Amino acid sequence: MSILRLAIPSPLRRSFDYLPPAGTCEAQLHSLQPGLRVRVPFGRREVIGYLLAVKLDSDVPEKSLKTALAILDPAPLVNPRLLQLCYWAAHYYHHPLSEVLAAIFPKRLREGKAHQSLGSAGWQLTTHGLGLAPDALARSPRQAQTLASLRTQGTVATVQLKDQGISSTVLRSLRDKGLIEETMVPLQAEPASSAQGLSLNPEQAVAINELLKTPAGFVCHLLEGVTGSGKTEIYLQLIADCLQRGKQALVLIPEIGLTPQTLNRFEQRFSANIVVFHSGLGEAQRYRAWEAARDGSAHIVIGTRSAIFTPLRKPGLIIVDEEHDSSYKQQDGFRYNARDVAVKRAQLEACPVLLGSATPSLESLHNTLAGRYRHHRLTQRAGSGRMPTIEALDVRRQALQAGLSTGLLDAIKDRLESGQQSLLFLNRRGYAPTLQCHDCGWIAECMACDARLTVHRRLRRLRCHHCGASRALPRQCPHCHSNNLLAAGLGTEQTEEFLREQFSRWPVFRVDSDSMQGKTAMQDLITEINKGEPCILLGTQMLTKGHHFPGVNLVAVIDTDAMLFSADFRGEERMAQLLTQVAGRAGRAGLPGSVILQTHYPDHPALQAMLHSSYAQQAREQLSRRQATGMPPVGQLVILRTDCGDAQCGELFLQNLRDQAAADLPVGTAMIGPLPSPMQRRAGKFRSQLLLTAPNRKTAQAAADILVAIAETLPARRGLKWSIDIDPQDVF
Ligand code: ADP
Ligand code: ZN
Ligand code: ZN
Repeated sequence: MSILRLAIPSPLRRSFDYLPPAGTCEAQLHSLQPGLRVRVPFGRREVIGYLLAVKLDSDVPEKSLKTALAILDPAPLVNPRLLQLCYWAAHYYHHPLSEVLAAIFPKRLREGKAHQSLGSAGWQLTTHGLGLAPDALARSPRQAQTLASLRTQGTVATVQLKDQGISSTVLRSLRDKGLIEETMVPLQAEPASSAQGLSLNPEQAVAINELLKTPAGFVCHLLEGVTGSGKTEIYLQLIADCLQRGKQALVLIPEIGLTPQTLNRFEQRFSANIVVFHSGLGEAQRYRAWEAARDGSAHIVIGTRSAIFTPLRKPGLIIVDEEHDSSYKQQDGFRYNARDVAVKRAQLEACPVLLGSATPSLESLHNTLAGRYRHHRLTQRAGSGRMPTIEALDVRRQALQAGLSTGLLDAIKDRLESGQQSLLFLNRRGYAPTLQCHDCGWIAECMACDARLTVHRRLRRLRCHHCGASRALPRQCPHCHSNNLLAAGLGTEQTEEFLREQFSRWPVFRVDSDSMQGKTAMQDLITEINKGEPCILLGTQMLTKGHHFPGVNLVAVIDTDAMLFSADFRGEERMAQLLTQVAGRAGRAGLPGSVILQTHYPDHPALQAMLHSSYAQQAREQLSRRQATGMPPVGQLVILRTDCGDAQCGELFLQNLRDQAAADLPVGTAMIGPLPSPMQRRAGKFRSQLLLTAPNRKTAQAAADILVAIAETLPARRGLKWSIDIDPQDVF
């Protein structure tokens, strides 16, 4: 008896056994490969499962096994190495394999629709047609000609057959005789070529020589290069080498990182099929991009986080740009880190992987210093740009208007008058983060979250930035009916309003997720700004990622203090990364740039570090502190979280888990909690968490195995959801 062992989309971390579809013969069974899609009955529904193995027996008695309905693919659509990656990820992140597998297929395939190759409609011989004697159709020469042509060429596009004078009538009659059938003729991938790259400066030349001379196979490289040092140029030249070897390159970028400018650079450099996965793609476009990557006709695949699971026929290089970026970590559902998955994938595909950043994560730095990754450094700006100077502007006892000190306003004015651009960073959108009643002290709070509502004045609404709830801006205090409502605190909308009044002769551009709606908004803005006319740019984090504004030579951080006192152990790392990236927007061409950090705490050690040492130095110091505390990347973290409509049951569940696991956990692990999450209520759910620390990866994995096994058996109240987060990004 043969059994199909399948992964079936469900939250359960287990496989399911089925009998093969009726009429499947022995020989067929032996040829079934893992990864095939199989349609099966599941409960009262029909679902698509993925074949894991063909087994000789099952733990389930044969008479209780259900029979699969159909095997949907003649051969698996993804290769064994990508399947291996999914197995690894499911295991490492303790996530159900079926959900990991489902994540690698486009929607239509996930839903069980037939796989379609790209290419043009064409014809091929059927088995019957193949077996026919060559002279069998001597009486109709057109039909004979068609068969002969398909016999020699395998598949031929319909248009090509028409060019040879073969009509649709001929094709139809051959089809009706069962001699030929319709098929897709694959696109012929044109070989890619690339234009001449820039002539490299000495540091770049050293890096590329080192990168190119590493032996074939898996190697992980870290390219640590200051902002504007020409990392992208290195990527382009490495990709050129990869394409020349006839291989595909996969480039990962952060969530909002692919600027049209960067894409232009790729398109200008390469005459190649470049496919880009981004959130704006429609379902059909996404499918075509996926299929082009899979069949090898795409030479370069660029995409955000989930693109790491794109099937590739012949991968030769993986690049993770801005590898420190926290958007590589998926924060819900399948909680993987695409950077780490990229390294594993390169290992399985036996190809090199390059992690690049001006501000590498401590994780990657740690691996590099330990000799696991090869290190390449660029310490100078390429081309004409110079590194900017940084100063702290002490705003204590100074008048602030919309958060801006006189010193800063003068600096901006100065730049505008001499025809230059300034970039102001304020990481809070909306008009003000709080609406308060001046008479009774009432504060507008979200009904579903432990959070205040943000005032959006232009829209005349209050909005929750955590759950998306939104309501009209009240005219009166709902508590005491006073009209005396104050918008307290600062957001980009307010500062924009002030800047427009103050500098009415010059344009002010606000860049945040409220103002940048629409696909072309950012592109249009960049085109406008890069005309080089004097202006002010004001924005959130959105403005800092990867953009190249040659005309900007003053960068100011309005509320540096917001970053100084983070409760998260990664707070300092994040601050140094963010400030370095913001500062990096200054003086990228020509004139030397300057950076002003407004603060009430000019002596704060983290701020002093920003002023007096490079990111590279700061990161190394922070790493030695992590060594002392045993926090990642030195030690390991795992978090179990619950959310539930009831305030107590999450903590009860986790306490129960903790009690049951305690005796079995490996030596060296420790648990903290259960505790309410810092924002305990979010979107109407109460959240709590249990933290586990471990001295190394192996111990953390062993502990996670135990915790998951117990959690799966614990009785839980209806509506309680639990999840496990391996290598969490946010702890508090
Ligand atoms: P990064 O990716 O490190 O921020 P980029 O590759 O975008 O840096 O380079 C910054 C600027 O310097 C770009 O305008 C780029 O065209 C230019 N550049 C890079 N390498 C060179 C080089 N070797 N010679 C001249 N200009 C260069
Ligand atoms: Zn009131
Ligand atoms: Zn809310």
